[in-house]
Amino acid sequence: MHELGVTESIAGIVLRHAEMNGARRVIKVNIKLGELTGIVDHYVSFYWDLVTRDTIAQGAELNFDKVPVVAYCQNCREEFRIQEYDLTCPRCGEVASDIISGREFMVESIEIE
Ligand SMILES: [Zn+2]
Repeated sequence: MHELGVTESIAGIVLRHAEMNGARRVIKVNIKLGELTGIVDHYVSFYWDLVTRDTIAQGAELNFDKVPVVAYCQNCREEFRIQEYDLTCPRCGEVASDIISGREFMVESIEIE
């Protein structure tokens, strides 16, 4: 369970940007969340309330943009979505070695006032 640490990182980024822009309050935070990270959005929301208490980001809405795990097959150049850790290419049957998305965890944008 590493959600507390990542939530603190996200809160730090959000507060830094909000303060740089002279915000009075953070309304919404859009977060890109790759399925491969294993991070559970529910826990991030839970910790968010703790780590932003008495800051201008308290009560901000968190919006998670879930990014599916996509692999690339070097054999036939197919890109395909991975489910349940099966890296076998549905087109040619080779095992893909490249994961091209799904590891994302980042602040995409924030809305302030
Ligand atoms: Zn293939």
